[in-house]
Amino acid sequence: MKQDNNVHRVPVVIVGAGPTGATAATLLAQYGVSSLVLDRWDGVYPQPRAVHMDDEICRVMARLGVAEQFGAISRPAHGLQLRDHDHRVLAEFRRDIAPGTNGYPQANMFDQPELEGVLRQNLSHHSGIELRGNTEVTGVEPLRDGRLQVTYRDRLDATTTTLQADYVLGCDGANSLVRSTIGSTMVDLHFQQRWMVVDVATDADLGQWEGVHQVCDPARAATYMRIGDSRYRWEFQLLDGETAERFSDFATLKPLIAPWTGTVPDDALKLIRVAEYTFRAQIADRWRRGNVFLLGDAAHLTPPFIGQGMGAGLRDAHNLTWKLAGVLSGDLPPIALDSYEVERQPHARAMIRLALAIGRFMTAGGEAGNLLRRVVVPRIGLIPGVRRRIVDSSTPALHRSFLIRRRRGPRSLTGTLCPNPALPDGRRLDDVLDTGFALITSEPLTLAQQHLLEQRCATLHFAAPDTELASWLRRGHTVAAIVRPDRTVMATARRPVDLLAEVPDFRRTEAAARRRTTTSSDAVTKDQQ
Ligand SMILES: Cc1cc2nc3c(=O)[nH]c(=O)nc-3n(C[C@H](O)[C@H](O)[C@H](O)COP(=O)(O)OP(=O)(O)OC[C@H]3O[C@@H](n4cnc5c(N)ncnc54)[C@H](O)[C@@H]3O)c2cc1C
Repeated sequence: MKQDNNVHRVPVVIVGAGPTGATAATLLAQYGVSSLVLDRWDGVYPQPRAVHMDDEICRVMARLGVAEQFGAISRPAHGLQLRDHDHRVLAEFRRDIAPGTNGYPQANMFDQPELEGVLRQNLSHHSGIELRGNTEVTGVEPLRDGRLQVTYRDRLDATTTTLQADYVLGCDGANSLVRSTIGSTMVDLHFQQRWMVVDVATDADLGQWEGVHQVCDPARAATYMRIGDSRYRWEFQLLDGETAERFSDFATLKPLIAPWTGTVPDDALKLIRVAEYTFRAQIADRWRRGNVFLLGDAAHLTPPFIGQGMGAGLRDAHNLTWKLAGVLSGDLPPIALDSYEVERQPHARAMIRLALAIGRFMTAGGEAGNLLRRVVVPRIGLIPGVRRRIVDSSTPALHRSFLIRRRRGPRSLTGTLCPNPALPDGRRLDDVLDTGFALITSEPLTLAQQHLLEQRCATLHFAAPDTELASWLRRGHTVAAIVRPDRTVMATARRPVDLLAEVPDFRRTEAAARRRTTTSSDAVTKDQQ
């Protein structure tokens, strides 16, 4: 940390060390950008929350360097069943548990506190990250030169500290202080329900279908899923006047979980926790003011019916951090940062809408709700577009921006994630693309063209005929694609030469990333000596 007239100065302050803040800090550190991460608690938040992660987010885990650790604490799931209140299956949407186009199973179950433990542990591998727990951020004020003054209070000794930062990332969750300091407010998308979350451990086999069961019942909607070898999660809608506290007594809870636990004796079921949540659908009306950005739950709240809320925060961090690193190194113009909200806001909104649609299927009452469940839901699978949306785990393309040159056409690849196929040497595409830009082409380049890409520190990847990448380009009616560091397609063309001038020069950012890699591998070597 630099000292500036006795005031500490850091490039980036991250408020909140939840999954979003920890991800942002790690990705920045990979580009050699130091950050100070402040969180009001010393350890991870222990309450039950996220349990599902899709295969796109698994690629972020790999990028953070924790794919193996995540594999060890997660379990692939078989998809989603919509059931009626008698548990008859109305519709089933299967997910492949074998690695798919993103290189991972499409649906993965886990326990959020365990994942947060992995992410926090991983922070310690990066010398550029300082995590301070027990610190409550109380103010973020803009200074005249565009920098920010951040004030925080030590929760143990009540001392107050002030420091200066070039950028502040507000990853401080649903009740974000950073959001209010930039004058942003949550827009209500008109959904609010109280639900109870129940976690149970048992070594008994419940013998259930190994996917997510969504019980569509206006009397009491419910969700069940197995999240680990011996861990199970239920979520039940609470009725008016009910509180979760009432169900913390096992005898009261038992009738609700009995349809799944069957003949398993009570003493074989260990109740881990019962918690109450209000599920909301909200999105911030602005995600940035000057050098302050909102990420994660601070910017959007997604009801958990499709298990995408935490994923959205990780997508935010993956989207913003390389842009910030590029602007700090001087490789990208400051306007590149405007693309963060332009790209992420509509995507987050689309995922919230999908969650609301599923939530309404599950809980809508009256004749309309019954019709929906009895007639529409069982036929959902017959409507190709809808079926694809639910079965296929891929999420919508990002909007056109300074860093997404959108071509018209339904098959355009721009704004979508490039696939992550296995390569002949056994690695996956993501392993060879590394942290910079890439050009993927099914037409070879001349030596001079290759040299130009090298100078810009971009990776050239040739998509050989009959490979998954070649057919991906063909399906998108294109021959070459610029892929950004977050693996989103920035631009495509029928001739690779037409893209060369558009590949950003990322050489200073990549040089910083390499310096960082060398320094940390030196540190590891010294540690081992
Ligand atoms: C019941 C339930 C089920 C869910 N299921 C899923 C799921 O299956 N899949 C999925 O993707 N998502 C799911 N979610 C959503 C997911 O849990 C959240 O989206 C995710 O935790 C948000 O992460 P975050 O880092 O943005 O915020 P948080 O996890 O809320 O972290 C914010 C951090 O900021 C800190 N902080 C706040 N204010 C300050 C301050 N002033 N100073 C210092 N520190 C501060 C807090 O201590 C906290 O550590 C679920 C949520 C619920 C409630």
